[in-house]
Amino acid sequence: MSVQVVAAKMAEVELKDVPTGKDLPAESPVTPTSEGKNLPRNDPHEAGSAAAASPTAEPSAKAGEGGTGLLTPNPAKMPQASSMKRSDPQQNGGEAFVNRDGTVAEAPRMKKIQFADQKQEFNKRPSKIGRRSLSRSISQSSTDSYSSAASYTDSSDDETSPRDKQQKNSKGNGDFCIKNIKQADFGRREIEIAEQEMPALMALRKRAQGEKPLAGAKIVGCTHITAQTAVLMETLSALGAQCRWAACNIYSTQNEVAAALAEGGFSVFAWKGESEDDFWWCIDRCVNVEGWQPNMILDDGGDLTHWIYKKYPSMFKKIKGIVEESVTGVHRLYQLSKAGKLCVPAMNVNDSVTKQKFDNLYCCRESILDGLKRTTDVMFGGKQVVVCGYGEVGKGCCAALKAMGSIVYVTEIDPICALQACMDGFRLVKLTEVIRQVDIVITCTGNKNVVVRENLDRMKNGCIVCNMGHSNTEIDVASLRTPELTWERVRSQVDHVIWPDGKRIVLLAEGRLLNLSCSTVPTFVLSITATTQALALIELYNAPEGRYKQDVYLLPKKMDEYVASLHLPTFDAHLTELSDEQAKYLGLNKNGPFKPNYYRY
Ligand code: NAD
Repeated sequence: MSVQVVAAKMAEVELKDVPTGKDLPAESPVTPTSEGKNLPRNDPHEAGSAAAASPTAEPSAKAGEGGTGLLTPNPAKMPQASSMKRSDPQQNGGEAFVNRDGTVAEAPRMKKIQFADQKQEFNKRPSKIGRRSLSRSISQSSTDSYSSAASYTDSSDDETSPRDKQQKNSKGNGDFCIKNIKQADFGRREIEIAEQEMPALMALRKRAQGEKPLAGAKIVGCTHITAQTAVLMETLSALGAQCRWAACNIYSTQNEVAAALAEGGFSVFAWKGESEDDFWWCIDRCVNVEGWQPNMILDDGGDLTHWIYKKYPSMFKKIKGIVEESVTGVHRLYQLSKAGKLCVPAMNVNDSVTKQKFDNLYCCRESILDGLKRTTDVMFGGKQVVVCGYGEVGKGCCAALKAMGSIVYVTEIDPICALQACMDGFRLVKLTEVIRQVDIVITCTGNKNVVVRENLDRMKNGCIVCNMGHSNTEIDVASLRTPELTWERVRSQVDHVIWPDGKRIVLLAEGRLLNLSCSTVPTFVLSITATTQALALIELYNAPEGRYKQDVYLLPKKMDEYVASLHLPTFDAHLTELSDEQAKYLGLNKNGPFKPNYYRY
């Protein structure tokens, strides 16, 4: 059963005469250049080489040379403690400040910066002999994290590795590996909260009305394990699928949610603070299981797909399709396709219109203020802010800051986006023109070295510098790791970088994505993504032979529209229907798709 049929069965009002699977041709495979401005640019940091994209590629010297390739860590990018001056916490404390209640207190002592933060996290738990890395090093995407996924539970309370524990759920099932099954009730409440903001998945469950479009589907997944993912997994299960799941990120697992899933009978292998070795072990436990073989892959970052290609290539004989959600993973799929090595159809959900709009524009509009506020407690009114890049992310950031009363400047290289910025009421400037006066600098370009040492040298004391764009390339953070500058870690994800004359700038998340590192991502945004993933899985699983070849596809436009329509009831929104006459006039089917593929929303 194709998703069009499912959609038609599920839809009550919106999609009355959705064409059946055979009526609807597959979208053409999409090349990275034909669509998706969000695809990686020609940047060694992310794009990597064909070799890096090859599943057979080893951790490679390339990772160290050209950047992480997102699938490998770049030790060169890890801050080196030895090259830095450190502040002495004994000397930093002792400053007095007045509390709100008028009492005088000593300022909190500044912590020494931990330049080997990430490394320490990886190695928090001493590895057991033989638990060496199973393959290439852990990916960038597996360490970048949506912190909305951050667990309220502190995983440090029990240092025993989940791998050393024998746990069973209340039904005696032990086919999972998580931190603590006793947290299941807490996790269930988290999932119930997420359900409130994920109306489309809940609607899918209801509208299925006993239909099981995923009956027989065996989905192996590797995504953030959060309350929102749990809602997705439980939806897939309600639609008939069996699921085994690992985390795509070593930090982002909500332990209590993993517990609730395990209690509910899901085979989940994930916990917050996995080591690199744990990360691959968990993925392997999902895949390498007696009597169960996946026939669908849901991946976020490409690590799971890579693992299967590398370790169990014969599994692809049974796999009907891959659904990939991240820029990185999608890029790797295109590389595979180009090299003729992609042996199953793949769906690029990253470039769905709804996902793009929500991830880039709306999500950033919502999370920029949150990220800045949590890290710095800054007040926005009257502050001078320069936003570099006026694409989707930049537009979102500018809109939020403008609404808060900030004075916003924009830098752009593209005259069209520049003109848009002007029409929206922002001053278009060169960075150098305003760098001395601004209070906050935000990069959103997808480019590299947009803010360089020269700019950083000229910033005023207290200037906040952060990145909402591409991983950690936009701000030349490496240029700040020189002996004459002192770094002080003042809060988690907040560093003061101090010049010899005492000037300090406030660098957030060491130049990594501010919102992913320091704020929450609205559940509604994740709802869009999860719904797109669910529909892509249904489509690939049910597509008739030959509809999809061994290539990378975008979700058909009609389904993109369907994702949006499933979210409309939340707002009690009333969609206008085309009359027959109007539909004829516009040359459209009354039930969509309503726009051609080239339409820019
Ligand atoms: P976009 O292509 O729509 O916008 C980027 C803009 O930056 C373009 O208009 C481009 O002309 C401009 N630009 C490029 N180099 C520049 C420079 N040196 N100075 C000034 N402007 C420059 O892309 P987008 O959708 O806005 O995404 C931007 C980046 O943000 C991407 O790397 C994307 O992966 C990332 N992203 C982040 C989040 C998040 O949650 N933080 C969400 C989605 C995307």
